[in-house]
Amino acid sequence: MSTDIFAEALKRLDLAAEHSKAAPETVERLRHARRFLEVSLSIRMDDGSLRTFTGYRCQYDDTRGPAKGGIRYHPDVSAGEVRALAFWMTFKCAVAGLPYGGGKGGIIVDPRSLSRLELERLSRAYMRAIAPIVGPEQDVPAPDVYTNATIMAWMMDEYSLITGRRTPAVITGKPIALGGSLGRDDATGRGGFYQMLELARRRGWDAGKTTIAIQGFGNAGQHFAKLAEASGYRIVAASDSKGGIYNPEGFTVDALIDVKDRQGSVTKAVGKVISNAEILELDVDVLVPAALENQLTGANAANVKAKAVIELANGPTTADADAVLHQRGVTVVPDILANSGGVTVSYFEWCQNLAGWYWPVELVHERLRERMVAEFNTVADFAEQRKIPMRTAAYAHALDRLAEAHESMGTKEWFSAR
Ligand code: GLU
Repeated sequence: MSTDIFAEALKRLDLAAEHSKAAPETVERLRHARRFLEVSLSIRMDDGSLRTFTGYRCQYDDTRGPAKGGIRYHPDVSAGEVRALAFWMTFKCAVAGLPYGGGKGGIIVDPRSLSRLELERLSRAYMRAIAPIVGPEQDVPAPDVYTNATIMAWMMDEYSLITGRRTPAVITGKPIALGGSLGRDDATGRGGFYQMLELARRRGWDAGKTTIAIQGFGNAGQHFAKLAEASGYRIVAASDSKGGIYNPEGFTVDALIDVKDRQGSVTKAVGKVISNAEILELDVDVLVPAALENQLTGANAANVKAKAVIELANGPTTADADAVLHQRGVTVVPDILANSGGVTVSYFEWCQNLAGWYWPVELVHERLRERMVAEFNTVADFAEQRKIPMRTAAYAHALDRLAEAHESMGTKEWFSAR
């Protein structure tokens, strides 16, 4: 399963290469991670026992700039998954036009099974283990699934203690008081929302008549839902790890968040209880996968009724499903584009840290919107011209940018010329 994810990721590279100017040697280079570190983290538990956890950090490519990408805490983290996520970050940063390469890290752990003190010890141990290879000019981590601003604060503090210098730019997604950026918390959902507005503009959709289902009601899903609701869209279904809820009349998003916070799941709201598989097949206009990988597959893609899929999760659609969805005319705004708002505001945070000058939230929103609108339309135009899925177009666009960086140091053709 874990190696499959990476193999799936490479299939997208091969498809994109057919539509890119990249030299074959660049494509070959991008089939391999530049650096992969595995660490073992032994920490003292609250009962006095010693427990060892496995962690990873992958720097997939750093030709366009320092590696960039989050750290995931999850029991299913594996070397293959981290490698695939780092590969996706490489293409995500390129498609968003950020001066970064791609990286990713993770620890095999269920963070909910640890006390807060154990979580702090583990997070600091992880930073101690990866400190030799990270830094503002080398590799800049950030939050991902089940990591948050507090964990980023511990890691920034640990790195600063090791180096003897306060270094906020070593990590993004920090608390505001410790050098975080305003607008980083809702950036992933907001970036996807700005892109949906562009799609709606291009297609002539009427917000009041457009229904949305959101699989995964965490940070990205909730913020997307709030912004969409405020623009008149109807959120008719949402789900979390316990299941989903459907109401064709639409939900009040704040009330739904309140139910999840107080009662542990959206399934406690008023509506029809459905499963995480059923939510993908609802008769809605827009489907937003905002949870984990491999949700839309060859087995269920033919049952998707939505006109558009906006991937806020990383890797929710398999390559098999891509082909089916394209053939059925479903527009998929791919993860590396749709969820690039998060890393874009991480970039703004890093810039603010390096400059020591902090932006008002309006400036963050405006700069984010400009980038999301521009890159979305570039990819959408390219996809329409070539009659290819937006995913292939996004990868080809990213690959062109990566190739420009790789190839400006010479290619086989250049070196062998007389
Ligand atoms: N983990 C997020 C992602 O997958 C954010 C990465 C970052 O901000 O560096 O895009």
